Amino acid sequence: GQKERLQKVIANSGVTSRRKAEGLIESARVKVNGKVVTELGTKVSQSDDIAVDDIVIEKEQPVYFIINKPRQVISTVEDDKGRKVVTDLLSKEIKQRVYPVGRLDYDTTGLLLLTNDGNLTNKLIHPKYGVDKVYITKVNGTLTKEEVLQLKKGVTHDGERLKAVKARLLEVDQKKGKTKVELVLHQGKNRQVRRMFEALGYKVEKLKREQFGTLTLGKLQPGEYRELTPHEVKRLV
Ligand code: URA
Repeated sequence: GQKERLQKVIANSGVTSRRKAEGLIESARVKVNGKVVTELGTKVSQSDDIAVDDIVIEKEQPVYFIINKPRQVISTVEDDKGRKVVTDLLSKEIKQRVYPVGRLDYDTTGLLLLTNDGNLTNKLIHPKYGVDKVYITKVNGTLTKEEVLQLKKGVTHDGERLKAVKARLLEVDQKKGKTKVELVLHQGKNRQVRRMFEALGYKVEKLKREQFGTLTLGKLQPGEYRELTPHEVKRLV
């Protein structure tokens, strides 16, 4: 999960201002998980207990959204080049500081989970849990059945072994020389789908994530988002 500076978390909880929170920390009035912390800038996560004068501060309520990320949006909460980030698409009414669980490339569309729940995030991105990530991709060129099978057996890219748990040929357009493939991944390596096709000599032209674990995109259009129901949250892990 995401770690943040202690004074910021205290300030955001509404207890006091950032400046005053620093004063509280320096005068040893703040405890993290029962221990006094006097160093400014100490990083804390959502699961840490933070107390001021031995009173535990209210943490943000956990919230969960899924968004259909459009193309040309960065799946982070900040971009140093000033490009649009995925949290820019959320209403200003949402006061919680959510962040994406995993990443989609700048030009990838589709399902992205946004939450402030660090514990859940850690579970979902841990390979041990093997969350299914389902992608639909359009590549240049016409793939053979053997090549599609190779995606399941595994390919090597930059010295890394990359494989899909499922790979299915959806459509081959001989005329235009394009192929549509569905891939299910458990691994979540950087640019994995694009690199897997690169390893076979193809270029991904369109990439969309349709499913992430138990969540599916449904009718959400690019740029649209919705809050998960409590039931959907329970089913996540
Ligand atoms: N694989 C990729 O190559 N890109 C993504 O955005 C997601 C998976």
